[in-house]
Amino acid sequence: MSETKRVYKFGNKAAEGKADMKNLLGGKGANLAEMNRIGVPVPPGFTITTEVCTEYNLLGKDKVIKLIKSDVEDGIANIEKIMNSKFGDSKNPCLVSVRSGARASMPGMMDTILNLGLNEEVVAGLARKTGNERFVWDSYRRFIQMYGDVVMGLKPESKEDIDPFEEIIDHLKEQKKVVNDTDLKVDDLKELVIRFRKAVKEKTGKDFPDDPWEQLWGAILAVFDSWNNDRAKFYRKLNNIPEEWGTAVNVQAMVFGNMGNTSGTGVAFTRDAATGENLFNGEYLINAQGEDVVAGIRTPQQITKEGSKRWAVLASVSEEDRKNKYPSLEENMPEIYKELDEIQQKLEDHYKDMQDIEFTMQEGKLWLLQTRNGKRTGAAMVKTSMDLLTEGKIDEKTAILRNEPNKLDELLHRVFDKGAIKKARVLAKGLPASPGAATGQIVFFADDAEEWAAKGKKVVLVRIETSPEDLRGMNVAQGILTARGGMTSHAAVVARGMGKCCVSGAGAIRIDYKTRLMNVDGKSVKEGDWISLNGTTGEVYDGQIATVDPDLSGDFGKLMELADKHTRMYVRTNADTPKDARIARNFGAKGIGLCRTEHMFFEGDRIISMREMILADDETGRRKALKELLPIQREDFEGIFEAMHDLPVTVRLLDPPLHEFVPHEDENQQEMAVEMGITKEQIKAKVEDLHEFNPMLGHRGCRLGNTYPEISEMQARAIIEAALNLKKKGIRAIPEIMVPLTGSLKEFQIQEEIIRQTAEKVFEERKDKIDYLVGTMIEVPRAALVADKIAEKAEFFSFGTNDLTQMTFGYSRDDSGKFLPVYIDKGILKYDPFQILDQEGVGQLVDMGTKRGRTTRPKLKVGICGEHGGEPSSVEFCHRVGMDYVSCSPYRVPIARLAAAQAAIKDQK
Ligand code: PEP
Ligand code: MG
Repeated sequence: MSETKRVYKFGNKAAEGKADMKNLLGGKGANLAEMNRIGVPVPPGFTITTEVCTEYNLLGKDKVIKLIKSDVEDGIANIEKIMNSKFGDSKNPCLVSVRSGARASMPGMMDTILNLGLNEEVVAGLARKTGNERFVWDSYRRFIQMYGDVVMGLKPESKEDIDPFEEIIDHLKEQKKVVNDTDLKVDDLKELVIRFRKAVKEKTGKDFPDDPWEQLWGAILAVFDSWNNDRAKFYRKLNNIPEEWGTAVNVQAMVFGNMGNTSGTGVAFTRDAATGENLFNGEYLINAQGEDVVAGIRTPQQITKEGSKRWAVLASVSEEDRKNKYPSLEENMPEIYKELDEIQQKLEDHYKDMQDIEFTMQEGKLWLLQTRNGKRTGAAMVKTSMDLLTEGKIDEKTAILRNEPNKLDELLHRVFDKGAIKKARVLAKGLPASPGAATGQIVFFADDAEEWAAKGKKVVLVRIETSPEDLRGMNVAQGILTARGGMTSHAAVVARGMGKCCVSGAGAIRIDYKTRLMNVDGKSVKEGDWISLNGTTGEVYDGQIATVDPDLSGDFGKLMELADKHTRMYVRTNADTPKDARIARNFGAKGIGLCRTEHMFFEGDRIISMREMILADDETGRRKALKELLPIQREDFEGIFEAMHDLPVTVRLLDPPLHEFVPHEDENQQEMAVEMGITKEQIKAKVEDLHEFNPMLGHRGCRLGNTYPEISEMQARAIIEAALNLKKKGIRAIPEIMVPLTGSLKEFQIQEEIIRQTAEKVFEERKDKIDYLVGTMIEVPRAALVADKIAEKAEFFSFGTNDLTQMTFGYSRDDSGKFLPVYIDKGILKYDPFQILDQEGVGQLVDMGTKRGRTTRPKLKVGICGEHGGEPSSVEFCHRVGMDYVSCSPYRVPIARLAAAQAAIKDQK
């Protein structure tokens, strides 16, 4: 048996791993290896595989250290050889960074430690070697800060507290009467180190470790542990990342951006991650380490001159000030800029996608620390894929696959009404970190955002800066506003990933967490006040602003056209009103897959006639009420057919249990009594009579039509008459009449006969006819089992996976909220089967039903109209079982179109 390889080395333009080993090496590790292979300068290092993380969770610390000890030592030796220095050596020391890196990028969710390998002796040696005492002591205090937090657990105790290390820094700055960290002298930094170490000892009871190897193992295990911290768990849940993947650990030689004025660090994107514009952009800081850019404590400068000029306009900085105080890297260090520009182009050409890169300059030498496919907004996702296609870098199929169906949702959201925005008052201006329009009430803390949102309030989360702890609050907020931080700050990156509107670095606002106030130019705004954000321009407005529908032409239209070219299945919509039908048609729906007729009975006075029909004693009574309902239904169908002219409309006959329609309140029972000329008590008795113990398994679906055939008769008549009325006006209606909840051929057949006889009667009366189909829902498990028989008569099948899921699992659709979240938390279920189709179980019935139906009727038209019809993984499944179409709610139509095309493309591969 071959020995499992657990550690992969890279460095000096050679690597044991490569880009396609993401599962094993994590995204970061795989790309570090790949960058070496294509000749990009990367500090040497090694990656401990994701499998080791799983082993660690299973076997524990000691066994895992034993498994990888010699490989890790070998990895360090390799770094030492390439860097010509020695780990833990006081004369010629080599320091390392230890970072996490999962298969899928999880920005900021897990832990990182920089400058590892320092102790007092090494510090002294490094100071002699570099002749830069300030840099060395600054690195040491940063190391203690990070290690103290991540490995030793020294964190703020409550949400109002600041970080304990930052508190010590603030205190010292006060004593020394300085404002910036950079104003602290070498002796001050030494003092900080003493105070930090003391705090660690006091709060944790442990000494800060001086042995570099002890530091290294502590850091490696802490990174593994961070896979299971709360924010990482939450992020995984949010993004459907499986628990069992684990994270890799990357140990890499440190290069320093804080070695003085020819050093620095930055983050860049090969294209604009907010808009998709093909413009290299990013931010950097001189004499700083990576976390300074992301943390948003200092104002970062732009990389390109063009970007810098645009930034200055948004930040209201004069050209004079921009050039002197905030010059771009292009102007500041033209040589390094040129090299960086060439590397970014090389990386984008190699990966053929927009890259998000991190770099460090150490005394004039450029190093790349990371490259990955950049997180982007929905708009940037669509534009980038269409642009790369036009540029000839990718083909049509790749361009389609580059788009995440659910992210299209962001493009369908509303934008500010142009008129309303003109009248709105601008409070402040920040950076347009993530586009969109957001209106909500101000909250200053993430947990408040969660609490308020749970009560149905719309909130905007306002923070000085955000950190990964704020993720849950950001997720429920309409938008995010930060006082500090640039376009690559945590808030900006995470908001773009979520497709959430964000304005960052609005420098004019002052936030006081204690009083829960935000101050802008002397005006105070408090928690609960309304503000609006425009994430596309960076403007912050006072109050609420009205919004309108977005424009869906351009790149979006082009992507949808491409999707239709490559798809096999087409997409219909679930719609009960002409308005919804029109919205869906605009989104590209090719018909209605489910028109639930029951919803129509609740509007206005109709409910009275409906109740009369249900409460009637006999057929004569029912027929009388149905006669009143007929013209109303006919008119509704005319509206819907007209909106969907020339496209098929599946109309489902009455489905829900009758008791849902009857009056339960005293007042309404009285009203019905007057209407029907009987006593309230009689009404009460009838309502009680209709009570069922299990209504969802009771008198509903085709059981209604089979016990009260006159209901189906009226509905069939309304459908056919509506279609004929439109025909007269030159409008083509294509009705498909659908019987709900069928479980046997006979059940269906009786309904089918009623429908066909009624249709024939109407044709006879009108001396005219139209084409129509009669088919059934497949939503009872038995129907899937006897689908071959049902298909003898049914002309189409539509899988009602809501009921099919309910009846296959035996989980009530209406009561599952009580236990499903617990089941998901405990891992009994991976996801909610009412949202994502359970392919393993319910899927078997769908597959079997389709196959059996087609053994009888090879050309049987098959679709789905349960909620799963708009969920990408379920759409893919529907393609695989050979469905003709999926049907979903109007706003999910574009998502389903893209998912269907992707399914077809994946199928060909
Ligand atoms: C279904 O059961 O999947 C379905 C579409 O019908 P309803 O949701 O109306 O029960
Ligand atoms: Mg149903």
